[in-house]
Amino acid sequence: MIQTQLYIDGQWQSPIDQGTRAIVSPADESVIAQAAEATRADARLAIAAARRAFDGPWRQTTIRDRARLLNKIAELIDRDAEKLAHLESLNTGKTLTESRTDMGDIAATFRYFAGLVASEAGAVNEAPHHVISRTLREPVGVCGLITPWNYPLLQAAWKIAPALGAGNTVVIKPSNLTPLTTHHFTQLVAELDLPPGVFNLVTGGAEVGAELAESLDVDLVSFTGGAFAGESIMKAATGNFKRIGLELGGKNPNIVFADADLDAAVDYALNAAFFHAGQVCSAGSRLMVEDSIYDAFIGRLAERLPRIVIGNGFHGETRMGPVQSAQQHEKILGMVQAGIAEGARLVHGGKRPPGDVFKQGYWLEPTLLADVTAQMKIAKEEIFGPVITAERFRSEAEALRAANDTPYGLAAAVWTRDLDKANRMSRALRFGTVWVNDYHPYFPEAPWGGYKASGIGRELARIGLDEYTELKHSYINLAPKAMGWFGA
Ligand code: NAD
Repeated sequence: MIQTQLYIDGQWQSPIDQGTRAIVSPADESVIAQAAEATRADARLAIAAARRAFDGPWRQTTIRDRARLLNKIAELIDRDAEKLAHLESLNTGKTLTESRTDMGDIAATFRYFAGLVASEAGAVNEAPHHVISRTLREPVGVCGLITPWNYPLLQAAWKIAPALGAGNTVVIKPSNLTPLTTHHFTQLVAELDLPPGVFNLVTGGAEVGAELAESLDVDLVSFTGGAFAGESIMKAATGNFKRIGLELGGKNPNIVFADADLDAAVDYALNAAFFHAGQVCSAGSRLMVEDSIYDAFIGRLAERLPRIVIGNGFHGETRMGPVQSAQQHEKILGMVQAGIAEGARLVHGGKRPPGDVFKQGYWLEPTLLADVTAQMKIAKEEIFGPVITAERFRSEAEALRAANDTPYGLAAAVWTRDLDKANRMSRALRFGTVWVNDYHPYFPEAPWGGYKASGIGRELARIGLDEYTELKHSYINLAPKAMGWFGA
């Protein structure tokens, strides 16, 4: 049985009140680990350690030291990639193939930020000759990093790499449903010769996250998760006007025009909605299809859905695992029922798959609800499960209006062979990412984040590093002379 501990001030330790939490496999509900469950008191110790480390020798590190550190972490991720991928699949239920992809992306993220940090240089500004005016980027301070359960280590990497690279100190709090890979990652960091307190792990629930958001000793909170927690973090952050980064939910339209390559569009519609059982913030669960091809498109999806292999993520043939928790399972089934009650037509799924192997665990069939209208709850709210809701549209203007008519703005996709239309749509859609004739690709070089209620700030790309820095204007007068402004 795996047992995890907290990592505070360079020491592995149990929570002050010895709290633990059973970690459950979403595939069969068996207990796979006992994780340390911290309280606010543990979080305060970690914050204090991070504060001391920030105010101590860590400030003297150079960009070269920190770039080397990120590259070293990438090497350790590569070394333990298989172990990490197994832990991620065990804890989240996602397929091993998906977890292996995550680990590759995580190492790439550390390498990307290592390169960016190494290339970081302050700018020398135009100024009189007796003045040295420089623009410097400096670390913000103590960073509280709060991550969700769907991409536990990937979301952590998007925050840890730029935070450490920019010279900050870190307290990370993964979701208490999925702490295992962040715990193993911390073991890798513990192999390195970092000053105590630079990197701290506090596993626990919302109250630990709330302590990070409220503490006057935390300078920045970066959060990925739902809108409800995001709102309370934003309010809590006002105590010391700390910097916040929020990566929240989405309601992401996947818009298919009649002139699209339909073979590709059908295939990608499945990938958009059912990858990681739809538990992706950018999942394309809101399918919008042009009227003239709508019935044929639904027919082709209906043929494909029963052929999707559901099962344990460790089996090679599996394409879709379970959802994360009993709570998610219940919520998704509730959303499907709400859709049917509002007049949507259930084409496939909407229930636990048949068979003994699916009796235990949080299993759902890939689900297709057709004849959905933009006013229905299922077209407006995030489902976060393996459900496609399909709407019909008659014109480009109607598609655009309906797609933008959501409080969210994370990601959208457009399928068409008409480049002019593709360009018009991608300019007019109010989303942080717009794919054309594709779905889901992201990489460290491109920014990630949402418009409107999908969040504040961006991760990845140069801006993803800049968010962890303060900008300073350093002005040095080398030959000061009396000005006489107020007389002699
Ligand atoms: P969640 O908001 O319940 O929890 C996220 C994290 O915040 C967890 O670590 C949790 O313990 C912590 N937390 C909960 N309440 C808190 C509070 N009041 N103060 C501080 N911390 C608190 O979200 P979840 O259910 O773990 O994740 C699913 C959500 O995350 C979905 O809405 C999804 O769209 C979103 N998400 C967004 C992105 C993105 O990049 N925009 C990526 C992944 C997931």
